[in-house]
Amino acid sequence: MIFFFGTRASKIKDRKISRTTCSYCETKDSFIVSTFSKYFHFFWIPIIPLFKTNVAECSHCKKTYAQHQFTPEMKAALHKENEINPAKRPIWQGIGCILLVGFFLLTFGLSLIGVYYGSNKKPKNLTNKDPRMELLENDIKKISPVLKGDKDSVSIALKDCIDYDIQSGIDTDKIEYFSVIQENRILVLLGIKDLKGIKPSERKVIIDVVEDCLSAMPYLDGVHQRYISIEGKWNTVLVKTPTDEDLGGRFADKYKLLPFYGEKPVVKDSIPTKVDTIPM
Ligand SMILES: [Zn+2]
Repeated sequence: MIFFFGTRASKIKDRKISRTTCSYCETKDSFIVSTFSKYFHFFWIPIIPLFKTNVAECSHCKKTYAQHQFTPEMKAALHKENEINPAKRPIWQGIGCILLVGFFLLTFGLSLIGVYYGSNKKPKNLTNKDPRMELLENDIKKISPVLKGDKDSVSIALKDCIDYDIQSGIDTDKIEYFSVIQENRILVLLGIKDLKGIKPSERKVIIDVVEDCLSAMPYLDGVHQRYISIEGKWNTVLVKTPTDEDLGGRFADKYKLLPFYGEKPVVKDSIPTKVDTIPM
């Protein structure tokens, strides 16, 4: 049976060691120590160098001593010899390992180049991006604490109502707001950075409170279509629109809010047509 992998050994150095006596023939300084290096091979390609071992031969009586048979005197002499004239492993014993590392680095490098060029193409794709996304991102940036004398009257009323309605779990003073009305549609964005006080499964209560509060505002009578989103610390947590919702309480798809800005513009021959939105 042939083994395609395993260990092999090769001699890397012969050295004479001094101040020793052969215990068999009593000849002084007669030892030649051969150092062998073992390595792991795969299909006879050396992959990883393993340990080194030494064999001593008396040049007078030809008796050989394996490393475990060395006398303390021989060990000391070899140790001294190693300091002056070490038996270094040849680099080829690790050639497989070097080739593997090289191959890995090459692949990694090429994929990095691929990612780099891929990201350079991004601006091209951006032209095909739904322009409503940008409108939404801009509105999310406008979420801010409600201050006295704020122009956003819906947010002011909403804050009063929510402060009263939400009893526990959230520090309502830290909730941030943004709202905007377009025809019969209203977009309400709440920023709640600290939601730890409410279990994800119970977070949809916040949406219910917002809806109740909106229903209680007489001047929103004609505004039937509500697009509500709760922005957590890192991502959108809850979304509810007239036709869709994400109420799991952990991750919500904020792009479900896009219909607030109108229909998705039709792109023909990659020339974007005018967005059907009403200026704010
Ligand atoms: Zn001897």
